[in-house]
Amino acid sequence: MSTATETRNFEAETKQLLDLMIHSLYTNKEIFLRELISNASDALDKLRFSALTEPGLMPEGEELEIRLDVDADARTLTIHDNGIGMSREEVIDNIGSIARSGTQEMLKKLGSQKGAEKMPELIGRFGVGFYSAFMVSDQVVLETRRAGEETSTAWRSEGDGTYTLSDGDRRGPGTSVTLHLKAADEDAGIEDFTNEWALESVVKRYSDFIGYPIRQRVRREKRETDEKGIIKPDGKTTYVVEDKTLNSMKPIWTRAESEVTEEEYNEFYKHITGDWRDPSLHIRFKAEGVSEYESVLFVPNEAPQDLFVWGAEYGLRLYARRVMIMERCDAVLPHFLRFVRGVVDSSDIPLNISRQTLQENRHLTRISKFLAKKVLDTLAKLQSDDEEKYLEFWGRFGRVLKEGVDFDAEHKNRIVPLLMFESSNDPKKLTTLKDYVSRMKEGQNDIYYITGESRSIVANSPLIEAFIKQDYEVLFLTDPVDEFLVTRLMDFEGKTLRSAGKGDLDLSSDEAAEDAKSERKDQEQRYGDLFGLLGKHLEEHVKQVRLSKRLTTSPACLTVDEYDMSPQMERMLRMAGPDAPRQKRILEVNGTHDLVRGLQERFETDKADPLLRDYAELLYGYAMLAEGAEIEDPGPFNKALEGIMMRAV
Ligand code: ADP
Repeated sequence: MSTATETRNFEAETKQLLDLMIHSLYTNKEIFLRELISNASDALDKLRFSALTEPGLMPEGEELEIRLDVDADARTLTIHDNGIGMSREEVIDNIGSIARSGTQEMLKKLGSQKGAEKMPELIGRFGVGFYSAFMVSDQVVLETRRAGEETSTAWRSEGDGTYTLSDGDRRGPGTSVTLHLKAADEDAGIEDFTNEWALESVVKRYSDFIGYPIRQRVRREKRETDEKGIIKPDGKTTYVVEDKTLNSMKPIWTRAESEVTEEEYNEFYKHITGDWRDPSLHIRFKAEGVSEYESVLFVPNEAPQDLFVWGAEYGLRLYARRVMIMERCDAVLPHFLRFVRGVVDSSDIPLNISRQTLQENRHLTRISKFLAKKVLDTLAKLQSDDEEKYLEFWGRFGRVLKEGVDFDAEHKNRIVPLLMFESSNDPKKLTTLKDYVSRMKEGQNDIYYITGESRSIVANSPLIEAFIKQDYEVLFLTDPVDEFLVTRLMDFEGKTLRSAGKGDLDLSSDEAAEDAKSERKDQEQRYGDLFGLLGKHLEEHVKQVRLSKRLTTSPACLTVDEYDMSPQMERMLRMAGPDAPRQKRILEVNGTHDLVRGLQERFETDKADPLLRDYAELLYGYAMLAEGAEIEDPGPFNKALEGIMMRAV
C-alpha cells in the first residue's frame, strides 16, 4: 500500500474524451448531477445486494443515503454516498480508464469541434458519466473506501491529462465526489450549483425517483416568537441546521401510471441505461394473482452497438420487493426482445437467488412470457395507431424481432403480423403479410417472395418477370436473416409462402393453360436438342437446361428445385465456410426470345458451331449477373464475350 501521492496519466482515449467534455458546447451542463447521483445510487444498490450475503457490510446505525454538501465560500459541491465504494485498483480501472470497446471509433467520429456538440449523448452511450463533472468543475476530488476494507483512496484531477492517487481519510465506506465549481455562467449553461434551490430543482427534475434519500443540510433562519407563535418584531434571530430530503424516493413503477409524467419516465430510463437520449416508448405492467410483479419497460431510440454481438449482455433490472438483485437479468426477457430495457420488481423471488437458478425459476419464466406478450401487443398497437413511429422502430429492431419467428415457437403468432417487407407493390412502402394477402389477385393461391442482396437486384431479376406480367405481387426479402425466416414462416393465413426462384413454376390460368401447354410442348420438341447441347457445354455448372415458364422478356435465368437450397443461402454458407456444399442449378431459357430462335437456326445449320459454346457460357454468366452474383470463373465468360463483341464491330 503506497502512502505517497502517485501521479498517473490518463489513457490517450480518456484524455481525448475529457478534452472534448471540457470544451463541449453542450449547454445542458446540469446533468452532471444526474450522472453522479446515478452512480451513487448504483453504489448503494450494490452494497445492499452484497449485504444480503455479508450482513457485516451494512453501515451500523446509518441509513443508506446520498448527501449533497455545499460550501459556498470555497465554491465546492460534494456528493456523498455510503454505498459499496471502490478499492484503489477499482478507482484506477473505473475512473482512470475507459475500457469500452468502440470508444476509439466514437472519438474518431467526434474528432472535430463541431462534433463536440453531440458529445454528451455519445458519452452517455459509452458509460463515462463521471467525467461530465468536468463540464462544471476546475477540479474533481473523489474519496472512496470499499465496504469491508480499512483504507480509503483519494483521486484528484483537473481534467488536464493526469490524475493523482493518494491515501484518503474517509472514515466509513462509500464515496464522496467533491467538485471545485467553475464560476456560474449563464451562457455556458453553468448555474450556481452552490445555491440550495438550484440544486433542489435539478434533483427534482432528474433524480426524483431514486430509491434512496438525497439529502441536503440546509440552514434555516429562526425568528423569536411570542407564546402565540407570532414573530416578535424586536426578537432575536437564530439559525438551525436541518436535513432536507430533495426527492420523493418513490420508485416509478410503484406510482399510479397517470401520476408519472413522460419526463419522469425519460429520466428514469436514462438512470437505468446510461443512455442520454429519451426512449421511444414506455410500457407499464402490473400483475396480481399467482405471480405478483410490477414492471416498466422501455424501447430505446437507438439500437445499441452490441445488438448483434453474440453473447452480449442483455436483460432487465431485477428487483425483489424494491431491492435490486441484478442489473441485467436475461431470464425475464426472451432473446429476440434483447433491445428492451427496464425494471421488473417481483414479490415472489427470493432475495438471494443465484444466476444459475434464475433460469429455472418458474416465476421468472412466467414473467418472461407475460412481458414478451405485453411488448408484442404494444408494438401491434403502435403499428396500427402510429405507422410512422412503428416504421422507425422496425428500422432499428425489426431484424431482432425476426429472430423470434425462427427461435421462439411460442411467440411466433404474435410476431408474424408485426413483420414488414419490401415488395413489388410499392417501391416506397413496406408491407405486412396481411396487406399482401388483401391485394392477392383472383386465382393467386400463394404468397410469392424472392430473396437477394438488394432491392434493385431482386426487383430486376428475370425470376419474377412472369409474376409482374400477371400482376402478382412479390415480396422482396433482402435481409440475410430472411432466408431463415421464410423456412420457419412457411405459410400465413393458409397461404403458402413460395420462392419465385424455386421449382418448375406455372402461373398460367386454367383457360390459358391448355394453349400454353401445347405451345410449350412444341417448343420443347423444337429446342430439345439445342438445350441438350447447351447443357453439355455447361455440365460443370448446371444440372439441366430447360424451357422456362417464368420468363417473359429476359433470355435466361437460373433456378433451383423446389426443395433445394436458395442461392442466397448457399452463398451465406460458403461465406461461413469454404467446405459448404455446392449445388448445381437449373438454367431456364425463354422459348419466345429471339435469341433462342437465332441459336436454334445456327444449331440447325451447324451443330458443331463453336459459337454455340460461347453462347452457353454467356447465357449462364448473364443469369448469374442478373441475380447479383459474381461470375465464378470470369475467364471463359470474358473470352466468349470478347469473341461476340469482335463479331459485332
Ligand atoms: P458508468 O456509471 O456508466 O459505468 P461512470 O464513468 O459514471 O460510468 O462510472 C464508471 C464506474 O466507476 C462505475 O461503473 C462504477 O463502477 C464506478 N463508480 C463511479 N461512481 C461511483 C460511486 N459513487 N461509488 C462506487 N463506484 C463508483
